[in-house]
Amino acid sequence: MIYDLYKAMFYLEDIREILRKNVPFGISNEKDEKEFNDLLNKTVQTLEGLSSEPACDSGNNIKYISDRIEIRTREEEFLNIDPIQAGGRLTPEARKVLISYGDGYSVCDNCFKPFRLDYIKKPPVQEFVSELSEFLNMDDVRVVRGARNGFQIVANALLNKNDVALISSLSHYTLALSIESMGAIWKEIPAGKNNIVTAEETAKKIETVKEETGRLPRLVAIDHIDYNYGNEHDVYGISKVCRDYDIPFLYNGAYTVGIMPVDGKKIGADFIVGSGHKSMASPAPTGVLATTDDFKDVVFGTTKLKGDVTGRKFGIKEPYLLGCTVMGAPLVAMIASFPVVKERVKDWDDEVKKSNFFISEFLKIKGDKVSSELPRRHTLTKVDTSESFDRIAQKHKRRGFFLYDELNARKITGLFPGASRGFKLNTYGLNWDQIKYLADSFRDIAERYGLDVE
Ligand SMILES: *Cc1c(COP(=O)(O)O)cnc(C)c1O
Repeated sequence: MIYDLYKAMFYLEDIREILRKNVPFGISNEKDEKEFNDLLNKTVQTLEGLSSEPACDSGNNIKYISDRIEIRTREEEFLNIDPIQAGGRLTPEARKVLISYGDGYSVCDNCFKPFRLDYIKKPPVQEFVSELSEFLNMDDVRVVRGARNGFQIVANALLNKNDVALISSLSHYTLALSIESMGAIWKEIPAGKNNIVTAEETAKKIETVKEETGRLPRLVAIDHIDYNYGNEHDVYGISKVCRDYDIPFLYNGAYTVGIMPVDGKKIGADFIVGSGHKSMASPAPTGVLATTDDFKDVVFGTTKLKGDVTGRKFGIKEPYLLGCTVMGAPLVAMIASFPVVKERVKDWDDEVKKSNFFISEFLKIKGDKVSSELPRRHTLTKVDTSESFDRIAQKHKRRGFFLYDELNARKITGLFPGASRGFKLNTYGLNWDQIKYLADSFRDIAERYGLDVE
């Protein structure tokens, strides 16, 4: 079905192209009229042959969109448990936007004075931005080009060369790089044996930095949920420590904003950063950076300089944002997904329940272990299969790839090919039937290779 569906959709795009070529006259020449009719017939024929089998095709499959660019059917053919892809799957509304708003600066059709992205009313960017700030319970917010761009903007505005900023030993690399890019220095708060970053360790590290450099760190930036274990870190306690020392606190919500409720005031964050393509059902590159009244003029301050030759000024453009940030289809798609995102965060408890259900089933396979904290508080989990599936891999002719092959045959994807000692998976967005199927599939594979299952 998906191959034929794509085929029909591409015919329609080619028809659209004829329309574009003949603007403003309409399709009036014979050649284009003929091509239009040919394409229309092909579309109808293709659609008539549609079968409801997901991967079934009519025999004359298309594989490529154009030279070497394959069509992507991962989400239509597979149950995808890729750790980073679950929360960024698009809504149908967002996918429709991508078709309609794909042209470069499409969002600028109705950009008038004061010429800034977040003031655009059509499509409703302005309304979206103000709802976003309410959604996060923060005072001000901007759409940015991914969470990493949010970190970069804050680092840019707050840090000077050789300033120290604290992250954790489990922080995402982009947080470290954003600090390094400013010529500042990142130091790590150790997560310790249980892989949880605590307020106590944060205070200790602040004291250490103070002793060593004679100055306090200029920023503390902590991932609420880390990318490796999917563990929850004590952002509430850490934010309190930061307040006691009067150090700005950045809450990294790449794995939270858009899938679970996030309340900036309750957390006590000076900055909230989220990722559109990780957790807000949005295309890349999208993200959010929210802040408070105390810091909005620092990070979102407007341009002050003017040209020495021309006297030019750039109105209310924001230097750290480089003026307008995310334009065109990615932004409008993010807006289109937002109503769903706002609702879905309310289902977080059920998502965590499903995550725990899967893990409890997974642990019935003898030798399976979980490296993440238990019970799970998130849908991203790291499992250790060195005493179970890796035992099989040792003797299998495909080595570690056997697990990938077996899952692939059951239409499950998202595991790193070759990984059999351990891997990360994300159950976010799977329904109960899919969760049970996932658990049954691992059990099947285990039994097939003679592992004991409780
Ligand atoms: C994915 C991830 C990021 C980076 O997000 P982008 O939106 O791709 O920049 C940052 N931090 C954590 C914890 C992540 O998991």
